[in-house]
Amino acid sequence: MFDTLQDRLAATFKGLRGKGRLTDADIDATARQIRIALLEADVNLGVVKDFVAAVKQRCRGEELSKALNPTQQIIKIVNEELVEILGGQTRTVRFAKNPPTVIMLAGLQGAGKTTLAGKLARWFKDEGHSPLLAACDLQRPNAVTQLQVVGERAGVHVFAPEPGNGVGDPIQVARDSVEEARHKLYDVLIIDTAGRLGVDAELMQQAADIKAATDPSETLFVVDAMIGQDAVNTAVAFQEGVGFDGVVLTKLDGDARGGAALSIARVVGKPIMFASSGEGLKDFDVFHPDRMASRILD
Ligand code: GDP
Repeated sequence: MFDTLQDRLAATFKGLRGKGRLTDADIDATARQIRIALLEADVNLGVVKDFVAAVKQRCRGEELSKALNPTQQIIKIVNEELVEILGGQTRTVRFAKNPPTVIMLAGLQGAGKTTLAGKLARWFKDEGHSPLLAACDLQRPNAVTQLQVVGERAGVHVFAPEPGNGVGDPIQVARDSVEEARHKLYDVLIIDTAGRLGVDAELMQQAADIKAATDPSETLFVVDAMIGQDAVNTAVAFQEGVGFDGVVLTKLDGDARGGAALSIARVVGKPIMFASSGEGLKDFDVFHPDRMASRILD
């Protein structure tokens, strides 16, 4: 992902190399090329406009005229503005004062929530925590079993409704899982919730009810980076319908253009906190805006 964007931006800066001073025409041409590169990468139009305006404004200011190497300075400006778009500082998990710290996962079906639940659980475990997974996706047949498989792989216990108890009420299961974590001294509770193929009112209500019942420290919106602008639209819908604190991008190992996913943090004003890039438990990391920006401008 992001290969085309990388190539385009590299070509833009290459064209500037060797120029001692940059004229306004050079700056305008560069801004235009950056705009095209971002739009071709599928970055959201509003985000592109703001980004290019910010870069242009800084390039016209003192920063550039005083720079010994103006081209390096432009790259630095673009890098800093990219970091801003991606959320600025790395955002770490906020832990609850009284355990368990509840982390709720929400998103569309197929976004990668269940897979992510396992990865997150494993990550917390490696960080020295004692996580518990809660199976609150009672919509999809096999979702509970899938989480149990994931939990086993991660070496983390899964709290699930008793088999044979009917379909079950996901909100009650969520409540019970908080009690379970409290009694058995798990300090982190990760709640997997149901998704639908598209955004719908019932899904939103269920997620909102689980959120209200468990008061999560972090509600994470999990989104497939391969789905293009729908990622942005879905994020906006979940932000309105459920509300979330951070974003998790999944399937960054895919070959889609990926720019839409990079726009989410700016459009909804919430940071990208984690990124998933494969089906294995270890294909997962904390999202660092500065590292992603450097990777894109490498
Ligand atoms: P859920 O419906 O949101 O719980 O999504 P799942 O966790 O079941 O994931 C849907 C599909 O995407 C599964 O086939 C996963 O193996 C796959 N998947 C999840 N995360 C990633 C990822 O980061 N990269 C790739 N390539 N596949 C993923």
